[in-house]
Amino acid sequence: MRLKDKNALITGGAQGIGKAIALGMAKEGANIGIADVNIENAENTALEVRTSGVKSIAVKLDVSRQDNVSNTFQTFVKELGALDILVNNAGITRDTVLLRMKEEDWDAVLNVNLKGSFLCSKEAVKIMAKQRSGKIISISSVVAFIGNPGQANYSSSKAALIGLTKTIAKEYASRGIRANAIAPGFIQTAMTDALTDEVKGEMKRAIPLGQFGTPEDVANIVIFLASNESDYITGQVIHVNGGMYM
Ligand code: NAP
Repeated sequence: MRLKDKNALITGGAQGIGKAIALGMAKEGANIGIADVNIENAENTALEVRTSGVKSIAVKLDVSRQDNVSNTFQTFVKELGALDILVNNAGITRDTVLLRMKEEDWDAVLNVNLKGSFLCSKEAVKIMAKQRSGKIISISSVVAFIGNPGQANYSSSKAALIGLTKTIAKEYASRGIRANAIAPGFIQTAMTDALTDEVKGEMKRAIPLGQFGTPEDVANIVIFLASNESDYITGQVIHVNGGMYM
């Protein structure tokens, strides 16, 4: 029980990696807030989380909207008490090559992946600074480091998220807040199911361990970063990619 009685808010926690994080943290004893645009899925996930015997609430949240974000953090604190862990996990893709990428494709991805993490981190820091403790974990991507054709918007948002993480780590270390990022490689979820078999085959060949990762591979590292075991780690990026980038 590495997270016993801790309270964690996970954005985009209704499915995929976020859901695995929610279920994994609950098994370690944390109470969980699932904040997602898809409230129906979020409620189902919260129900599943409660089978571990912890508290769990679902909140409808669009991370790119300031009003939504403030309401979500207020509801979370009212229902669960303190906020010990924030996982900035909500993310979207709008893939196409640079010359075809519309301004709205750029804005949509940056608004969710980067601005959303900025807005949520700011609300979290307000609460955590008063407590003098807290962990902020942001889900970046291997493409922040290596780029990816068709993902100018996505790779830029994930690279900037690392700058945001390091800055929060420096600004609020003195208040007991740790901020770290995880850069997953290819993880099997709805996001990657959308790719063609040809692209998937190409990606698999680029992974030395020869297989795609699972949402649980990422969740295990989030749990470590959320726990006291990682208290001397801040401003870091942990790569979870089967050796795809070293
Ligand atoms: P996913 O299966 O698409 O799940 C993302 C969740 O976030 C969905 O429930 C989605 O709801 C929700 N969401 C989307 N926009 C939102 C918003 N504005 N506010 C709140 N919630 C929102 O994706 P995933 O594969 O689990 O990815 C999770 C995170 O890991 C993302 O940040 C992604 O970029 C990152 N990542 C994934 C991989 C991978 O290979 N899968 C690799 C590296 C990094 P809807 O479904 O209703 O839109």
